Amino acid sequence: MSKLRTAATIALTLLAVAVLAHTTARTSRFQLIGTMHRRAPLEERWLALTFDDGPHPIYTPQILELLAEHHAQATFFVVGQRAWEHPELVQRILSEGHEIGNHSWSHERMVLKSPAWVRDEVERTDALLRDLGVPEPIHFRAPFGKKLLVLPWVLWRMDKADILFDVVPVPQDYLHGDPELIAADIQRKARPGSIVVLHDSGGERPETVEATRMVLETMGAEGWRFATVAQLLERAAASATPDLPRSSP
Ligand SMILES: [Zn+2]
Repeated sequence: MSKLRTAATIALTLLAVAVLAHTTARTSRFQLIGTMHRRAPLEERWLALTFDDGPHPIYTPQILELLAEHHAQATFFVVGQRAWEHPELVQRILSEGHEIGNHSWSHERMVLKSPAWVRDEVERTDALLRDLGVPEPIHFRAPFGKKLLVLPWVLWRMDKADILFDVVPVPQDYLHGDPELIAADIQRKARPGSIVVLHDSGGERPETVEATRMVLETMGAEGWRFATVAQLLERAAASATPDLPRSSP
């Protein structure tokens, strides 16, 4: 009887671990250790547009032109391999005042990998970006938003946050959704301090370019300001810091 009870306890524990691991890998809302940001706690209409998987020789420049036209700033989470192929695009993104983030070296899923492999993906990309003039801190975003236990642990050891997002447009831009619907869904879901995920590479991205143009036009006209993730987080940290007591004269 006690053997049966022990076996049942082990089976239930294994099931619970499997469910937890599955949930942690699938969701972008939950993480056991380390810091993760899905948005910045702001009250003003500030929004971070983020573009993953680039840089891309056709679509990244088109997005940069739109951002410049609207005096908007954005964050580009680049893939190390692609940044290595197009260093001039990384430098252009930087010189136009945008933020560059690290989106791993190879864009492989970071689940069921060793800590050394994960650390190498992050460090190799950081090293290249630093060489290209990207200032610290270099923010990181996990490919596919996946992050079982190894990635959060590696990032925690490196004192790096995982920058995720709270606005995923439906239809998604990388599935070639209708740009008008993508833009309308971003507009509907955005709240002050939101981080929006879009993709400027990984395939043909004309829908992303068009949806970006619509968001900049319509939300810009409503008074939204487009800033980088770093600017959003800095602003949130500044507004959370209480004023120091003033010394009396
Ligand atoms: Zn990606």
